[in-house]
Amino acid sequence: KERDPHHTHFQQAARSLLESIEGPLRDHPDFDDDALMARLLEPERTLVFRVPWVDDDGRTRVNRGFRVQMNGALGPYKGGLRFHPSVNLDVLTFLALEQTLKNALTGLPLGAGKGGSDFNPKGRSDAEVMRFCQAFMTEFHHHMGADTDVPAGDMGVGPREIGYLFGMYRKLGRRHDGGFTGKQLSFGGSALRVQATGYGLIYFLEAMLNQRDQTLEGRTVAISGAGNVARHALEKALERDARVVSLSDSRGSIYIKDGFTRDHLEAVAEIKNGGGKVGDLADRFDGVEYRDGERPWDLPCDIALPCATQNELEEEDADRLIDNGCGWVVEGANMPCSGAAVKRLRDAGVVFGPGKAANAGGVAVSGLEMSQNSRRESWSAEEVDRRLRDIMARVHQRCLDHGGDGERPDYLVGADMAGYLRVAEAMVGQGIL
Ligand code: NDP
Repeated sequence: KERDPHHTHFQQAARSLLESIEGPLRDHPDFDDDALMARLLEPERTLVFRVPWVDDDGRTRVNRGFRVQMNGALGPYKGGLRFHPSVNLDVLTFLALEQTLKNALTGLPLGAGKGGSDFNPKGRSDAEVMRFCQAFMTEFHHHMGADTDVPAGDMGVGPREIGYLFGMYRKLGRRHDGGFTGKQLSFGGSALRVQATGYGLIYFLEAMLNQRDQTLEGRTVAISGAGNVARHALEKALERDARVVSLSDSRGSIYIKDGFTRDHLEAVAEIKNGGGKVGDLADRFDGVEYRDGERPWDLPCDIALPCATQNELEEEDADRLIDNGCGWVVEGANMPCSGAAVKRLRDAGVVFGPGKAANAGGVAVSGLEMSQNSRRESWSAEEVDRRLRDIMARVHQRCLDHGGDGERPDYLVGADMAGYLRVAEAMVGQGIL
């Protein structure tokens, strides 16, 4: 706090971690906790670089590029790149800390990092996005590679951007390897990588429900966001016959009382891919209510899945969810619930699934993509899905191992403890670095 007083997101994530593990760690005298924690909270390395590029009008633009190489104890730094105007070192360092615990929880050999730029791809032409990605890579390629640092996508970085980034990485490094994940299938991508975070979220939610002998069928679900995670969570929830009543974006939310259908979902994908707002769905279908500037958290639901961005569900939203009888809040996005909201939900007995466990499916399939690339293999969608389910079941089990496996496990404490212990053991084993 003293070193970076303006890094409020990072402090929020670090405080949550410290609160979770402080009590349970007293039973683990093997680790010199303070010294370990001081190392865990400090990135191994942080890169900040200039990204100059030329827009379609011939004007030179300058953005800032970042990479936080947080922790390499378990494997190559692994985590996405985010292109969004809100990107800064505070946001990326909090994301990198969450990534450290998440990657450890998957059980795969993955270290953790996070990066990106304050570049906004929205409203930019394909050619501009390509020039920006190429400019970003002219610097970043020096610092990454299949065995050192393996980036992927995040907000604003989808298959198109990864294609341009990977192309430049390949050209500058004269290599075609697993230095990036989230690639398109035609040049080394994995089946189901695009769907993995949303599908994995629903697999994790089902494991939580099963723990109490419940299922998703017929349950009313509110989802926020209309991007990669939200849409694939919606798709999988529909397969399970849940009644999903909302999606949202940065401009507002939509409410469908009778629940989304596949036709609604396909139309949302078309609208968002075309640069529209989620509210445009109301012009295409009866029974769709657009709520300009509103979040979905005042809607009656059994389960809430925040899948948009950090701190999108605040204390007063938590109160509304509780008043409306919501029993489960499971995070698809990274830290979408504010610290005060998490406390409110947990105090009220709402079952809370933290993002570092619930949204681990994306990085898990990225790990599988790295394995396929290094073995020069390509697994079927069925094979990847089987492994994804297996990994999410194990993430769930690790949460129970450390958060209690009875009727009311504490998933936040379980996820933090399980992730921390795995990284801590690797750090202690490698000495003070
Ligand atoms: P996308 O860019 O595909 O979608 C993000 C969605 O969130 C968009 O609908 C966007 O609206 C909305 N949004 C952004 N800012 C706000 C805001 N301030 N208020 C309301 N809505 C907002 O990103 P992803 O779906 O990939 O990522 C969503 C979250 O999930 C992030 O927290 C990300 O870190 C996390 N995550 C993603 C993974 C992945 O594999 N993609 C893996 C693990 C976590 P609009 O369209 O108007 O901009």
